[in-house]
Amino acid sequence: MKRFLTLSCLGLAAFGLCGAYAGIIPEPNAAALPYATQSNPETLVVDASTAGRGFATSTMHIPVRPGPFTFVYPEWIPGYHSPSGPLADISQLKVSANGTPLAWRRDKVDMYAFHVDVPHGVDSIKVQFTVLLNGGQSVGGNVMSTPNVAVISWTRMFFYQNDINYHHYYIKPSIILPKGWGYGTALTTVSRVGQRVNFAEEPLTYVGDSPLDMGRYYKKVLLWHQGNAHQWLDMFADAPQDLDVPAKILDAYKNMTPEALALYGSRHWYNYHALLTLSNKIGFEGIEHHQSSDNRAPATFMTNPKWQLVAGDLITHEFSHSWNGKYRRPWDLTTDNYQIPQRTDLLWVYEGMNQYLGDLLSFRCGIRKPSEYPQYLAVLYSQMAHEPGRDTTPLIDLTTGAPYYYMTANGQYPSIRRTAGDFYTEGELLWLDVDTIIRAKTHDRKSLDTFLHLYSEPKLTGPITKTYTRAEIEHLLNEVVPYNWHAFFQRHVYEVAKLPPTGEIKRAGWRLVYNSKPNPFVVADEQMFHVNSQWLTYGFDIGRGGKLTDVREWSPAWKAAMAPGMKIESVDGQRYTPAALKYVMVQAEHTRQPTTFIVSKDGWFHTIEVSYFGGPRYPHLVRIPGTVNLLAKIMAPHAKH
Ligand SMILES: [Zn+2]
Repeated sequence: MKRFLTLSCLGLAAFGLCGAYAGIIPEPNAAALPYATQSNPETLVVDASTAGRGFATSTMHIPVRPGPFTFVYPEWIPGYHSPSGPLADISQLKVSANGTPLAWRRDKVDMYAFHVDVPHGVDSIKVQFTVLLNGGQSVGGNVMSTPNVAVISWTRMFFYQNDINYHHYYIKPSIILPKGWGYGTALTTVSRVGQRVNFAEEPLTYVGDSPLDMGRYYKKVLLWHQGNAHQWLDMFADAPQDLDVPAKILDAYKNMTPEALALYGSRHWYNYHALLTLSNKIGFEGIEHHQSSDNRAPATFMTNPKWQLVAGDLITHEFSHSWNGKYRRPWDLTTDNYQIPQRTDLLWVYEGMNQYLGDLLSFRCGIRKPSEYPQYLAVLYSQMAHEPGRDTTPLIDLTTGAPYYYMTANGQYPSIRRTAGDFYTEGELLWLDVDTIIRAKTHDRKSLDTFLHLYSEPKLTGPITKTYTRAEIEHLLNEVVPYNWHAFFQRHVYEVAKLPPTGEIKRAGWRLVYNSKPNPFVVADEQMFHVNSQWLTYGFDIGRGGKLTDVREWSPAWKAAMAPGMKIESVDGQRYTPAALKYVMVQAEHTRQPTTFIVSKDGWFHTIEVSYFGGPRYPHLVRIPGTVNLLAKIMAPHAKH
């Protein structure tokens, strides 16, 4: 999964556990005998011909036995790291057996479970419901369809037998497409009749892991192939012109597989589909899968190079997850079905390391220029170095509490509360630190790439999962280079670490400075997300419409009692615009007079004077003379193109 928090919404810049794991161990494995087998699978027909109107109809035949039977709706969806199955989007549920309606009742405790009494002589029940596609789900996007594009996540579309192991429970899916629409998915198409497409029966886990994108306007680009293996980019857009991707941008994406193979040493997937919707209504999202990824981006994502600068790691991040997250996965995050709670403590590896690798791949591929990475890193560092919540909340709490940080930590003061985005941003600093430690200790003969070759194991296995613990990660790192990795992670992840890792910047031959020269990543972020970050100056971030989204503790704005939710009406008597604020800030540097803000909140206007005289302030990295530029080496292309 990818967190898209703007540089400033986090209160900070660019958007966007184990070993000593005492106490709780994962739930017992699933225990029920699966009635749906490869020769007698559950069948699922999703009539998505109405997707453009915001709904679809699912019809299942679920194999059963006479007597009490429980079917369930997926709750813990892999990749979302939270119990975010959109239960409220189920409607018009009907159950029948041999044409006779069957009464159903919801479980009083587990809202995702439904009970029926199966009559004698019945070996399958028909379950039908309407899936509302554009409901109120806060995680994973709340708009899944427009009149021209739709994202079909199968896990929203089916019920299945309770308590089974989803590797051994089979389902045979079909979809009815809107007329004239194309589709893309990692599932195997076995037949097509008119608008109905039938896919091969597969284990439930694989179908749930293979979403389908569809749309009126689409383009499929073969990015890479070798023998029988292919990597595709399947794009679906609200408007046809958004598919006219410049060759230069596509060429960079064609480097994805060669660079990933250089990074990991091998692949596990047979064929890979990077699915991409281009729609302002659907917006940003990224969900990883074994042999595909569900990427969602604004309409001009592939045609406006500024989007590539700001979010060019969207597809590389999800692609990297095929190795790190899908093939290799934390032991306690790996479950036997969608109802068993996932333990998310090790997301500092799963997501934290992946944030670094997704970015690294985007620079190595040339989606973003390797020479730009130092300025990008400066922004990440300055975010984490100016987050008051770090003083009390260690990284391990953010990952352990990830389900709630993802689902509900959307309110005011994100810099004090901290957010799920932090273990991505801080993860990048952490794993760059690991990378530079390995390089320094081995005189650049080894790197994090060496570790990843061991971690991902050179076997073409197809979509299977191999689990790891914190101890195994530390053990593998010790095989690369002996070091007290346990103490390292203890210090940076498991204990309160008031400052983010700093060693990596110096070790890479750079120094962090702040000055008035705009940082290109901050500028692009402000432009694309319509925000204004004054986090390092007055100490607030301004969102769309001029409202403060956060105020930094002990900053000049904080001391003047500014608070999130206030709307800036004027600065020193002028109507607020980003340009007016900048002008006033530069003036104050010379006059040393407080800036007068008129703000409004809940129908009241207030005058607030803020004493800040430091002028514009942006983070940058500058070279330490006479040192090796390790960042250039790390971000340079590694594959033979
Ligand atoms: Zn991710």
